[in-house]
Amino acid sequence: MWKRHRHSECIKEAISRAEKTCIARKCRLTPIRKKVLELIWKSHKPIKAYDLLAQLSSDNFTEKPPTVYRALEFLHENNLIHRIESQNAYIGCNADHDSFDSKFLICDKCNEVEELIEPKVNKALFEISKKQGFTPSLVNVEIHGTCSQCAQR
Ligand SMILES: [Zn+2]
Ligand SMILES: [Zn+2]
Ligand SMILES: [Zn+2]
Repeated sequence: MWKRHRHSECIKEAISRAEKTCIARKCRLTPIRKKVLELIWKSHKPIKAYDLLAQLSSDNFTEKPPTVYRALEFLHENNLIHRIESQNAYIGCNADHDSFDSKFLICDKCNEVEELIEPKVNKALFEISKKQGFTPSLVNVEIHGTCSQCAQR
């Protein structure tokens, strides 16, 4: 998110979206799930699991690593966060999409990530794959480069 914006709004939106998702799917946004989601939403930079664990313990959360991993799994399964595979780290999702297809613009200078929401890209990738006789089940595209803010510096 390289446009100037109030990041507190991103966090608020993410939490309320998570709460709605949980109600709709009849599951619970337990304190640890909520806390993990908040930590991931601290910035638009991907965060690794061990950094999350460190943050949690400094915030006096005493959950054991398996609990934290399960919370991550829950958030991931419910499409509230995504995994940036190239960094083995997590990023929040506010795109409100049902599919597990994800495409990201990753700035190599500031490490901020923006999700690319463009159904045309998915469609094109699916069609090209089909032409090769291949049926894709998951699309994960990570585009590295320089964001508009870093380009100005
Ligand atoms: Zn933000
Ligand atoms: Zn997303
Ligand atoms: Zn940047």
